[in-house]
Amino acid sequence: MTAKVIDGKAFAATVRGQVAAHVARIKEERGITPGLAVVLVGEDPASQVYVRNKHASTIEVGMNSFEHRLSAETGEAELLALIDKLNADPAVHGILVQLPLPGHLNSELVINRIAPSKDVDGFHISNVGLLGTGQKSMVPCTPLGCLMMLRDHHGSLAGLNAVVVGRSNIVGKPMAQLLLGDSCTVTIAHSRTKDLAEVCRRADILVAAVGRPEMITGDMVRPGATVIDVGINRIERDGKAKLVGDVHYASAAAVAGAITPVPGGVGPMTIACLLANTLTACCRANGLPEPEGLTA
Ligand code: NDP
Repeated sequence: MTAKVIDGKAFAATVRGQVAAHVARIKEERGITPGLAVVLVGEDPASQVYVRNKHASTIEVGMNSFEHRLSAETGEAELLALIDKLNADPAVHGILVQLPLPGHLNSELVINRIAPSKDVDGFHISNVGLLGTGQKSMVPCTPLGCLMMLRDHHGSLAGLNAVVVGRSNIVGKPMAQLLLGDSCTVTIAHSRTKDLAEVCRRADILVAAVGRPEMITGDMVRPGATVIDVGINRIERDGKAKLVGDVHYASAAAVAGAITPVPGGVGPMTIACLLANTLTACCRANGLPEPEGLTA
């Protein structure tokens, strides 16, 4: 079997188009423009690229983008004061603090200072609790993007066996909660899991969020399964820099029913879902109906 390739790039473009259309409508009908504030502390080169991309995508869908670039020496009090200001600003519907923060800043404290209703990354402890108890929350962008692709491919996910490899707070755990919310039978695997290959072979849906290049190989995939590769790993092969996932693409694609590539799979969905979350936050803040198909 050769797997169907789930084209995250094309799907993300569709999501951004839906967001843009909804933004245009609420602008025209209600005079409201959704706004996303991104806070970057320090000069981490990868973070600078992410923030630039987020800014460009936000503008592209017709939202306001507020960038706050602070020096690497910024103190905790100054950063918290900025978040308080953004929390109180009615033009700001979503707040994202780019991680990682410089070592002297306490990320948990900073993230938990963001108003939960504006926490478009879904990392605030209140949103984690709401998601865990099946209540309306802001959902972390990467797992939300995976869920959207899975729903699009399968329709209903009810009753499917899902295995999530990885238990991080930003990907693995929320991914498992979302799949459970869609009535999958969910297993979470991690570095201490015994016989990982056997566990993975039980999966109708296999999500790899490990951070180890090409660790999930074809022999670990159940024939016909859907494989979602969250991993982004920079490696060198044949003297060239290359981006690979946590899944060994060639061997897995020969067995799977459907698979996301790296690049061009989960990655583009993450920013699209950040925009979707900002729109959702704006709609909730203004008592407007939430955009259909763009939330968990
Ligand atoms: P973390 O390092 O926080 O978590 C990795 C998880 O993988 C841990 O739970 C760890 O288990 C588990 N793990 C490590 N080694 C093994 C192993 N040998 N067998 C089974 N499980 C193992 O990573 P993240 O969740 O933050 O990210 C995972 C990947 O996803 C990375 O490649 C990252 O770059 C990518 N990513 C991609 C995004 C996108 O937009 N596409 C967004 C976010 C992340 P344990 O808990 O036991 O240590």
